[in-house]
Amino acid sequence: SVKQEQVRCCHHQDYMITASKEKTRLTADLQRAISNHEFAVYYQPIIDLTNDTIAGAEALVRWHSPTRGLVSPLDFIPVAEDTGMIVDIGKQILLQACTDTKLQIDSGRWPTNFLLHVNMSVRELLHPGYISRVKEILAITQLPAANLTLEITESRLVSQPLLTNQLLGELRDLGIHIAIDDFGTGYSSLAYLTQLQFDALKIDRSFVSQMLDSENHAAIVAAIITMTAKFNADIVAEGVETAEQAAHLKQLGCRYAQGFYYSRPKPLAEWDIGNSA
Ligand code: C2E
Ligand code: CA
Ligand code: CA
Ligand code: CA
Repeated sequence: SVKQEQVRCCHHQDYMITASKEKTRLTADLQRAISNHEFAVYYQPIIDLTNDTIAGAEALVRWHSPTRGLVSPLDFIPVAEDTGMIVDIGKQILLQACTDTKLQIDSGRWPTNFLLHVNMSVRELLHPGYISRVKEILAITQLPAANLTLEITESRLVSQPLLTNQLLGELRDLGIHIAIDDFGTGYSSLAYLTQLQFDALKIDRSFVSQMLDSENHAAIVAAIITMTAKFNADIVAEGVETAEQAAHLKQLGCRYAQGFYYSRPKPLAEWDIGNSA
């Protein structure tokens, strides 16, 4: 009935108003978080399956908000990307991660060939001056470019393929490595992959988690590993949660793995390199 339609319509509007009010609040809180440096970097080890040692770590942002508590990146990265605030947040994260890694290497806690992985949004990559900023951060922290891998999500690459690919090439010219994140979840074609500038692929967690229950998922994981080797790129399996998954990946020739089975992401103070792998 008309009455019902109106009610539904009003509920919908209420919902929209509430959602947009929350987005406005979140945007203001994030702006404050940037000025007050409320972001922390957690690190999750990346394991070399050929010798079961820690080869590197992925830096993952956490927001310690005075009013919201510990906020997951899943709850603010999308808004930060929408509003462009990801540019300032990403700058703080990269500076912190490079500073930490340089210190860990210099003090002998991490090896000199440690692989630091940092997430990069397409929005950041496309921001004018991004590459010179990355260069500047490496210069300030004195971290060699060879220690740094920037991870970019495959599904976000498709909008401006030529430009993003050119920018990825410029980063690689600096000696930085590029990893394609969440591989297998996007819609980019395999033909696109032949033209993409990258050094490593990260197999998405969804394939790894279903690998032992589904032959189709197992086949995809095996195919990605074989293909990546032919591309002369490194391979990292994400979301490894069990010994069985680790053993299977090893058997398939997967070089690197990451997941709760080895360690959750942790602040540096809680890292104990001797115990994690
Ligand atoms: P991602 O880059 O795919 O990062 C991996 C996510 O999987 C992390 O979630 C990590 O904690 C989680 N994870 C790792 N191992 C396991 C596992 O064995 N099982 C399960 N269930 N989960 C696992 P987190 O830290 O909540 O980050 C979520 C996403 O937020 C990241 O996904 C990334 O897309 C984004 N993100 C995080 N930090 C940053 C950052 O500094 N910059 C940007 N642009 N994005 C970031
Ligand atoms: Ca990532
Ligand atoms: Ca990922
Ligand atoms: Ca992801």
